[in-house]
Amino acid sequence: MRNTIPFLDLVTVHRTLKEELTAVFTKAVDTAGFVGGPMVLEFERDFARFCELPYCVGMANGTDALRLALIAAGIGSGDVVVTVPLTFIATAEAISQAGAQPEFVDIDRQTYTMDPEKLRAYLERSCTRDPLTKRALSKRTGRPVTAVVPVHLYGQMADMDPILELADEFDLTVIEDACQAHGAEYFSKREGRWRRAGSMGRAAAFSFYPGKNLGACGEAGAVVTADESVAVRCQMLRDHGQSQKYVHDMEGYNGRLDAIQAGILSVKLCHLGKWNDERRLVARGYHELFADTEAAVVVPHVPFWSRPVYHLYVVQVANRERLQKELAAVGIGSGIHYPVPLHLAKPYESLGFGSGSFPVAEEAAAQVLSLPMFPDLSSEDQYRVVKEIVQSVGTRRSGARA
Ligand SMILES: *Cc1c(COP(=O)(O)O)cnc(C)c1O
Repeated sequence: MRNTIPFLDLVTVHRTLKEELTAVFTKAVDTAGFVGGPMVLEFERDFARFCELPYCVGMANGTDALRLALIAAGIGSGDVVVTVPLTFIATAEAISQAGAQPEFVDIDRQTYTMDPEKLRAYLERSCTRDPLTKRALSKRTGRPVTAVVPVHLYGQMADMDPILELADEFDLTVIEDACQAHGAEYFSKREGRWRRAGSMGRAAAFSFYPGKNLGACGEAGAVVTADESVAVRCQMLRDHGQSQKYVHDMEGYNGRLDAIQAGILSVKLCHLGKWNDERRLVARGYHELFADTEAAVVVPHVPFWSRPVYHLYVVQVANRERLQKELAAVGIGSGIHYPVPLHLAKPYESLGFGSGSFPVAEEAAAQVLSLPMFPDLSSEDQYRVVKEIVQSVGTRRSGARA
């Protein structure tokens, strides 16, 4: 029996770090420091530095981070916030649960991230312009569009320069969903330098769910920002609106990062750069194997302005369901991110964007398949994955099997 190749191996990495990780638990038990305290502060300091920013506020998870970042940036009821349909549902949940209404613009066919031209078309054609505030007013609801949430999907940043230019022109707050992009980089032509994911908008949300490039041993997240007032509001919002103990300046939430997870994240953060490099090597391996075999798959596209961190390695194939089944039959795991674009998901049906509203996202949702991707994936296993895929889908020359 051949080995199975998991979609994601979370066992090996934690086994390797077991002593350091259990030492964190021992420290928390010895000091009874379970929520807040020095381990949280230390991680916040180090992760802010990693993102090349002054502030990081630890949160209970990525969804809380995104919701509280929006609220802290002043987004709330009566606002429209624009994002993309091809993302995890948390992106849209955070927008509605901040009190705003999500609306969508389509993605770029090659990068799967927000298409800036579609954002412009939305602002110019699906909105009218408020003559006083220069803000765009959604024609669907008459409400002002106050923010945009680009999603750095699969570990690759959205094309931020033109998005930021539109944000300037239309007075939009930019909150980055960087939950899949720890350490990804974007070459800003406006600034003539590489920028880290999370450092380009007013604030950004990260998730440390176990399967993310930086994952806790449980739930965790963070907001990063260069804006001190946003950081301070996030600190209060995550802790019942407290400025001091039992002094509540506003109503907040319980969205705190616990100390054990922070300690674990500090241990793992030391390895993140190396792990991201290993993911890039795995991606390069796939790329070369697919090119050599002329497999009938669409491989990820990396524009000159992007240094992705391959949270996922996503290909497109014509007959995905069959391929996924055939891979499973030979013990190879895979995933679909995401099968239903959000505008067609039940909670957002009432927004009235029907099928055909965002054709690029809809086509991607029907064809994307995420292959095994993690730092320890061996080249032998990758070779087997590609061989099985070629057997299933054929080559470009033979044409995909019908
Ligand atoms: C994981 C993820 C989130 C939510 O993070 P949680 O920690 O699971 O709450 C939000 N957006 C995207 C794109 C994600 O991948």
